[in-house]
Amino acid sequence: MDFEYWWLLALPLFFVLGWIAARVDLGRLLSETSTLPASYFRGLNFLISEQPDKAIEAFSEALKADNNTLELHYALGSLFRRTGEMDRAIRLHQGLLERESLDETQRLMALAELAQDYLKAGLLDRAEELFVKLTDTRYAQSALRALLEIYVHEKEWMQAVGIAQRLETLTGQPLGMEIAQFYCELAHQKILLGDNAEAASSLQTALSENRNNIRANIMLGDMAANNKNHAQALQYWREIELQTPAYIELVAERMMQSWRALKLTDEGLRWLHEAVRKYPLEETAQVLFDATLDLKGPEAAYRMAHDEADLSPTLAALDRLLQAKVSGMPDGDLRLVMDAIKQHLERTAFYRCTTCGYTARQFHWHCPSCGEWETLPPKYERESK
Ligand SMILES: [Zn+2]
Repeated sequence: MDFEYWWLLALPLFFVLGWIAARVDLGRLLSETSTLPASYFRGLNFLISEQPDKAIEAFSEALKADNNTLELHYALGSLFRRTGEMDRAIRLHQGLLERESLDETQRLMALAELAQDYLKAGLLDRAEELFVKLTDTRYAQSALRALLEIYVHEKEWMQAVGIAQRLETLTGQPLGMEIAQFYCELAHQKILLGDNAEAASSLQTALSENRNNIRANIMLGDMAANNKNHAQALQYWREIELQTPAYIELVAERMMQSWRALKLTDEGLRWLHEAVRKYPLEETAQVLFDATLDLKGPEAAYRMAHDEADLSPTLAALDRLLQAKVSGMPDGDLRLVMDAIKQHLERTAFYRCTTCGYTARQFHWHCPSCGEWETLPPKYERESK
């Protein structure tokens, strides 16, 4: 019991020590201890008790007493950045860079700090300029990561591809999924400019970078369908089943439209029926039902909905059963009940990022909150209330 209690006390202490060690070169600090002013230690105390504002005050005072301690500058600079005082952080690091006494290592460190200040202050052009200078130094990895963030933010997709490839080489960590998404974004830009040939070639590159990139197949299918080449569109969209079947949800409606355009509705109904039977696809089940009701009439739709509700009696399945039952009937009480169910289903459906929990009514390939790629599953979640 005593042992566990001791650990409870020690853990936060280690955390604080780690935090300080990450920012201040502890060895150097100890060797300079005898020359440091008392306010430095007061500053450290405030840091440990999580009072950054008072720590800033004490460090500033210590700096007045001894302006030559570089660690003190860096500690204060990173505190400014942490507390969002970007002007002061920038001034401090710029001041350091103007010193002629800095050696190359110290100059690079000040440059790296200043670049981070600019990034956090949203001065992306200036940040980019400095990070580019740092890509061949020992700060290469953090500089490349920052540049990637900047290019994604500015939608400079070819630049993003180049940086991601350099990061792959440097770290050995594969970024094919991200690179493929960058090519999809590039294709999107080309489509808006009316350059379909370039767009198609970007999408093929996306697939060669990551053959599991579903978005490229969706977009290639969309382009083909827009050109009234529905057979080819369906070919691209069918590929999705071989990649990740759950994403059929995103294209089921478009697929059915193409089968209608080709007057191959029976083939379409068969394909969708097979897909719904093999995988848990809620939206696709609705598309299949709507098409069956429209093409085969209420009785066929009712039989289908009945079998489905028998297997898994979800609210959506019961809703379809009712739809089949009242189709063709005049408006009545049952309609009201159905409208209520439909509204409930729409109101409670959302996509949720598996990384940060961000929720959205609309599907995103790139999470608007945490910036990760392909973290929203193509399946609606529903509030349980
Ligand atoms: Zn997220």
